[in-house]
Amino acid sequence: MSQTKPKKRRAPFECQRCNDCCQGRGGIFLEAQEIAPAAALIDLSPDQFIARHCRAREGRYEVLAGKDGACSLMGPQGCRIHQAKPAICRRWPFFPGILANPSAFEDARQACPGIDPEVSHEEFVAFAREQGFSEETAE
Ligand code: SF4
Ligand code: SF4
Repeated sequence: MSQTKPKKRRAPFECQRCNDCCQGRGGIFLEAQEIAPAAALIDLSPDQFIARHCRAREGRYEVLAGKDGACSLMGPQGCRIHQAKPAICRRWPFFPGILANPSAFEDARQACPGIDPEVSHEEFVAFAREQGFSEETAE
């Protein structure tokens, strides 16, 4: 008698590298200490990096967006500073508001194909905690 193997579920979140979250819908900021590591990844000095990609704002550096709205640090292969990308980009989609609020989670799920369309909010929150994120941890 043959047995059907149970279907393996995908992870609650697995980035599909669609780059949709890099299209400039929200402010992306780098802290001062994040500039040098990011600049080094694309062979720029910190000053060159700031001049080409940032606007100083309220003590931080907002990453510029092009006319099409895409982040200026996005390249053909995705984020050009992936290993040193801003904290907000590392954190997505485990933002405190998304972990605390099921309706914000639904909005995130609609926006991000990396979130399993079948995962419940509770399962997503549990997975986020396994990754070290919670409603309380800052972005
Ligand atoms: S929108 Fe989601 S799947 Fe697409 S690049 Fe961003 S995190 Fe990854
Ligand atoms: S810094 Fe990188 S990950 Fe963040 S929005 Fe820009 S391209 Fe996307």
